[in-house]
Amino acid sequence: MSDLMQATIRRFSDRLATKAVIQSRGAIEACYPALRELLGEGLWLVAVDDNTWEVAGKRLAATLDAAGVRWQRYDVAPPPDGHQPLCDDNSIALCTQQLQASGATAAVAVGSGTINDIVKYACSALGLPMACVATAASMNGYTSSIAAILQHGVKTTQPCQPARAIIADLDVLAESPLRMIQSGLGDLMSKPVSNSDWIVSARLTGSHHSAEAMQIIEEGSQLLDGVAAKLPQRDRDAIDRLSASLMLSGFAMTIAGSSSPASGGEHLVSHYLDMTAHAHGLAHDFHGCQVGVGTIAAAFVYEKLLDVDMQGFDIEARVAELAPWADYLQLLRERFGVLFDAVLPHAKAGYPTPDQLRGRLEALRASWPELKAEVQRTLRTHRSIRAELQQAGCPLRFADLGVTDRQRAFASIAWAKDIRSRYTVLHLAWELGRIDEWAHEALEVL
Ligand SMILES: [Zn+2]
Repeated sequence: MSDLMQATIRRFSDRLATKAVIQSRGAIEACYPALRELLGEGLWLVAVDDNTWEVAGKRLAATLDAAGVRWQRYDVAPPPDGHQPLCDDNSIALCTQQLQASGATAAVAVGSGTINDIVKYACSALGLPMACVATAASMNGYTSSIAAILQHGVKTTQPCQPARAIIADLDVLAESPLRMIQSGLGDLMSKPVSNSDWIVSARLTGSHHSAEAMQIIEEGSQLLDGVAAKLPQRDRDAIDRLSASLMLSGFAMTIAGSSSPASGGEHLVSHYLDMTAHAHGLAHDFHGCQVGVGTIAAAFVYEKLLDVDMQGFDIEARVAELAPWADYLQLLRERFGVLFDAVLPHAKAGYPTPDQLRGRLEALRASWPELKAEVQRTLRTHRSIRAELQQAGCPLRFADLGVTDRQRAFASIAWAKDIRSRYTVLHLAWELGRIDEWAHEALEVL
């Protein structure tokens, strides 16, 4: 699959900062020439945690030592109250300090989502080149130009420079925890929903849409044919395809200049679970595992939406029902509690005036047949998405994610639109006044 990714890199070389994806067995032993070319000479900071040091860091260290590279180990520590490192302002500040204090000229992140994002963001801010040794095909962030950062309790995505080189050793990826492999598939299963949301958002809010990014996502998606059922056996070819599909998904986000091609309402469900888990010490799961469940939920909401008789929909009655912002503010305070201050700017940016709501619903009614047809080309049923996730043994219900509180599961669908203003099917369902009803119905299958 390296050839396919290199072809994409060549095709979009003017817009992709990533110049090499070395994905093969033995990639770690083979990576030095590419790293030397893309990171330059100097001192390289190698960021690891205990786990990633064991599974890949030691092999990288041996490769660098054999090549005579000057490097220094940096241990990304978990927060005092946590078991796992977290990508937040604090961990980024610590990494930045270490990069400056050591005089590093480049960095290599050895890890998956969290370690990659910490190092990526810190290096980007300092203008230093970085590379990543992937330890799991668990999410699509390796090649993306955004980092997922918890800021004041809200999960945000911040722009940054991606890794110049990504080293994806298939033996390392295949031996990663099965839950992380399932997470990678779950992250990619968002496609039918996130692409539909992107189309809806472009039509109703005039947001930017990129046909090139859609095409890259589509190419990556085709690699997944027949892959799900082979993942539990850690089949090397299936892992190769999964990882390539994730890399292409990240490239698509970089080309689009936002996470839109791969992140819609289904991701908001996952982000809501992460935020409430962090704020209240509640259960959560890997990003993509949550996204998989969120995708089933959002696809269910789409099925309800596509059944709406828009010609008979009373737009004026809905606009008359719209709560004044001051009333909604009070509701947000009750719903989000300690997260209220952090959520507020996002919720406010997405809250329509009566004229905006009327305009959007009228546009929806006017374009309904075409919009439905366009979305239906991309969308899949919640049943078919669930069946594919099931083949890989992925979580299918909120309880499988450890979320047993029905109210929290409900809120992750019905309230999540307020944590990010970018328009999704959850925003649209709310604007139609149906989100509560549809979220309750979705929980019957979740
Ligand atoms: Zn994702």
